[in-house]
Amino acid sequence: MAETWSNWSGSLKFTPGELIEPESEEMLLEIAGKILENDHKIRVVGAGHSSSPLVVTDGILISLKYLKSVDSADRENSTAWLGTGLTVKEGGIKLLDHNLSFHNTGDVDIQCVSGAISTGTHGTGSRLGNLSSMLIGCRMICSDGQVKEFTEEKDGKEFFDAMRVSLGTFGIMTKMKLKLLPAFKLERKEWCTHTDHCLANIDQLIDENRNFDFYWYPRSDLVKLRILNEPGRGMQKLDYADCVEEKSGWAIDVLPKERDLKFDEMEYSLPFEAGPECFREIRRIIKDKFRKTVAWRVLYRTIAADDFHISPCHGRNTVTISLHQNAGFPFMEFFRAVEPVFRHFEGRPHWGKKHTLQGKEISSLYPRWNDFLEIRNKMDPSGVFLNEYLKKQIFDL
Ligand SMILES: Cc1cc2nc3c(=O)[nH]c(=O)nc-3n(C[C@H](O)[C@H](O)[C@H](O)COP(=O)(O)OP(=O)(O)OC[C@H]3O[C@@H](n4cnc5c(N)ncnc54)[C@H](O)[C@@H]3O)c2cc1C
Repeated sequence: MAETWSNWSGSLKFTPGELIEPESEEMLLEIAGKILENDHKIRVVGAGHSSSPLVVTDGILISLKYLKSVDSADRENSTAWLGTGLTVKEGGIKLLDHNLSFHNTGDVDIQCVSGAISTGTHGTGSRLGNLSSMLIGCRMICSDGQVKEFTEEKDGKEFFDAMRVSLGTFGIMTKMKLKLLPAFKLERKEWCTHTDHCLANIDQLIDENRNFDFYWYPRSDLVKLRILNEPGRGMQKLDYADCVEEKSGWAIDVLPKERDLKFDEMEYSLPFEAGPECFREIRRIIKDKFRKTVAWRVLYRTIAADDFHISPCHGRNTVTISLHQNAGFPFMEFFRAVEPVFRHFEGRPHWGKKHTLQGKEISSLYPRWNDFLEIRNKMDPSGVFLNEYLKKQIFDL
C-alpha cells in the first residue's frame, strides 16, 4: 500500500494505489506493460508543485525522478534531449556545461521541466513564450505500452501544438527535445515604488525590458518592480523608484528566486490589453475586503501569444495575474471573490493552480478545444492517462 502523497503546498493529499519510481526507461517500459495489461489508470507526477488535482489518483502514480540525463546537446542548433526527472534548476545547470540555456524560467526553478512544460508554466517577458514553447520532441510510453519518439519535424506542428500543453494526458514522457538558446547572462534589478507610479509607466516597463513583472503588496500599496536584461540593455534608471536589490550572472542563476514560504495560488491569463484594468479592479476588491486577511502579494506578468491548443496564452499576447495566500491559511473565500473579475476579462486559469471552472466554462475559452480532444483521444483512446478530475471537470467526458 502506498503512503499518503501530498503536493508542495500541502493543500492536496491522497493515497495512490501504488507509487512507482523506475530508475530507467527500460524498467519503466516493463512496468508500464504490466500496468496497462491490468487496466490500471496511470498519472505521472513531476515535482508535485501543482495545486490543482492533476495527479490525484487511486491508480498508479509514476515519478520519473531518477531520469536526469542531458543527451545529444547540439550547440550549433541550440537543442538537447533532457530526461524528464530533471528539475528546471538541475536541467539549467547541466545545460550550462554545453553552453546552452532555457530562454526563461518561472519564478522558481524547483519544478520538473516536464511538469512545467505540461501545464504551460511561464516566466515573464512580453516577447517570450512560455516554457512549453521549448518542446520540439519527446520519447513517450504510449497507451499501447510501446515507447515512441515524436518530433515536430516528423509529426507536424498541429500534433505538437496539442502535445506542448497536454497535462500528462498523452502518455509518459521519458525524454524531451528542447529548443534552447546559447547560454547568456542577465542583470536583475528590483525597485520599490508606489503602485500608481508603476501603473503610470507600465507600457514602457514592459516594452523596454527583456523580463519585467511586479509584485503588489496589499497592506502597504507599494510594489516591487523586477527587471531583467542582458548586461547594459534595458532601463537602467527609474526616477520614481528605489533600487533595493541587484544581481547578475548566468540566466539560470538570476531568473528564478528562492522560496522558503509555502503558499496556495490562483492565476489567470488575460488578454494583454485587459491587464491594467483587471489589476485595478482586483486591487479595489482586496483593499475593500481582504487587506487584513491576505498575507501575501499579487503578481503581474506578461507572456507572448502561442498556437498551442490549450495553452492559456493561445492566440493572444497575455498578462497573467496571480493571487497568493500563505499555505495553511484559508484561501478559498479570497480566491472566489476575485475569480469573477478574471472571468469578466475572459481569463483562462493556470492548469496547475487553484480555480473553480469546469466543463464548458473552460472549453469555451479555447477555440481549438475540440481539436485537442480529438488528438488526445487518438493518443489514449481508453483514457488510461486520465483521472476523475480531468475526465469529469476538465474534459467533460
Ligand atoms: C513555488 C511555486 C512557484 C511556481 N511558479 C510558477 C511560475 O512562475 N509560473 C508558472 O506558470 N507556474 C508556476 N508554478 C506552477 C507550476 O510551475 C506548475 O504547477 C507545474 O506544472 C509544476 O511542475 P511539477 O514538476 O511540479 O509538475 P506536477 O505538478 O507534478 O505535474 C504537472 C503536470 O505535468 C504532468 N507531467 C509531469 N511530468 C510528466 C511526464 N514525465 N510525462 C507526462 N506528464 C508529466 C503531470 O501529469 C501533470 O499533469 C509554481 C508553483 C509553485 C508551487
